[in-house]
Amino acid sequence: MKLRCPICERSSLCYVTRSLSLNTINEYYAYEFWRCRFCGFVFASNPESVSQITDAYEVDQGYTRDFDAILITNGAHKGICKFQVEITRRAIVGRTKIALDYGCGFGALLNVLSESCFEESYGIEISNLCHLFVKRFYGMDLLRTLDELRAHTTEPLDAIFMNTVLEHLPNFQQVLADLVRELRPGGCITVMVPNWNRERLSLRRYIWPHTGHLWHFTPKSLGLLFRKYGLQVVYSSRLPRQAQTASILGYEAVRLFGYVVPFGDLIYVGSKA
Ligand SMILES: [Zn+2]
Repeated sequence: MKLRCPICERSSLCYVTRSLSLNTINEYYAYEFWRCRFCGFVFASNPESVSQITDAYEVDQGYTRDFDAILITNGAHKGICKFQVEITRRAIVGRTKIALDYGCGFGALLNVLSESCFEESYGIEISNLCHLFVKRFYGMDLLRTLDELRAHTTEPLDAIFMNTVLEHLPNFQQVLADLVRELRPGGCITVMVPNWNRERLSLRRYIWPHTGHLWHFTPKSLGLLFRKYGLQVVYSSRLPRQAQTASILGYEAVRLFGYVVPFGDLIYVGSKA
């Protein structure tokens, strides 16, 4: 059987390497990586089932309950969130009224959106803990599905944000297609994902920590994905200098800074035709 790349649909997958990782009961296992030779998209064989990963988010496994620490992290993310809102606002043609943060987590971006040019902002999130936190500190009620959003507003969306969400979704292409449908022509979707070209540098040296990441994007594969769903890339950032710093510091940086800086992540803004 020939495996096809889920993005470019070519039979061009090749084995990359394996790395050790820890499963949910702290046992070591080998994690194998496959890469598309054409578009650079990477996925990993995962001994834990996909539902185990998504269930973990739903029951808040692995989230800190230290709300003070979350507030500090949200504060540290404010700069990058403001930057994302600003580049999105500039890319939108026409109205900037309704924004959605899909997979909004603890609401760092939503909090910034509430002080921005957008008149209405909504957050969709599956974690109960995030619902509790955002209600308590930002006074906002989060939603769980797109259907719930449609109970609040029937207008098409002007902006959609997805911050480090796409790499966790088993059905990422279906979700993206559904979101693009909710966007009005001239509206924009802004996606931030880890950059595989940076992450792969730490593959052989460390225990692979990103077991919740099902997919790994490169600039080329993310660009192809956008075009596949009718999005014209109007902004792309590869943050090369930060990526370089991250590769030197490795996961020491994560330990020191608590992953408050999205080192070298890809940020793409797509405009719906
Ligand atoms: Zn491909």
